Amino acid sequence: MSIPRDLPAIQPRLVAVSKTKPADMVIEAYSHGQRSFGENYVQELLEKASNPKILSSCPEIKWHFIGHLQKQNVNKLMAVPNLFMLETVDSMKLADKVNSSWQKKASSERLKVMVQINTSGEESKHGLLPSETVAMVEHINTKCPSLEFVGLMTIGSFGHDLSQGPNPDFQMLLSLREELCKKLNITADQVELSMGMSMDFQHAIEVGSTNVRIGSTIFGERDYSKKPALDKSAADLKGPMEVTQAH
Ligand SMILES: *Cc1c(COP(=O)(O)O)cnc(C)c1O
Repeated sequence: MSIPRDLPAIQPRLVAVSKTKPADMVIEAYSHGQRSFGENYVQELLEKASNPKILSSCPEIKWHFIGHLQKQNVNKLMAVPNLFMLETVDSMKLADKVNSSWQKKASSERLKVMVQINTSGEESKHGLLPSETVAMVEHINTKCPSLEFVGLMTIGSFGHDLSQGPNPDFQMLLSLREELCKKLNITADQVELSMGMSMDFQHAIEVGSTNVRIGSTIFGERDYSKKPALDKSAADLKGPMEVTQAH
């Protein structure tokens, strides 16, 4: 696979998405050299990252939070050991809350954050409107000194037919990065792009993804049957409750 010549030659990071999978699978992947792991529920991430076996066997593990983050869960997320990146900042209020919560930890490093964009415009997906991207990043850069803006993240619509051309949601994220770089006078290699999952990571890398989030292709299909609360719609998408509470 090759990365387009006009884009920064960044080796994409593989985030192994271990949601619903046991700690032993994380440890096994780690023992084969995998370092970055992703989870989308705060409680599940906190439990897994605090697991004594993971703590002792995986000292260099880097956890990415990739799920929707509600303000009441921010403090809990900030308590996660080896939290490396929050990929899903989707409002200024959330950024402010994360900023002040991380500040209280008095960590020597800023918390890396990505801004999540709803590129597909689907009501069921989280993220900012594309038009809100620049203001959001400026807000982080000027008002959130404990946060380090590192990139843009999107899920995009599923099942895009590549015979119709490149995935427009990924193209949207690329063009938002261009706009951001012009407005903020920064270079493309300062803005990561988190896009691509099991179904579409190859295409995502071909068009310039720097961070792919892959779960089922690595760990096998997820079994939600034992945990009815963690069904697919609640895991990746807005549940009906949140949609009705939105305004
Ligand atoms: C679950 C999840 C993934 C991984 O999905 P797979 O299709 O299993 O690769 C990637 N990104 C997000 C935001 C997820 O919730």
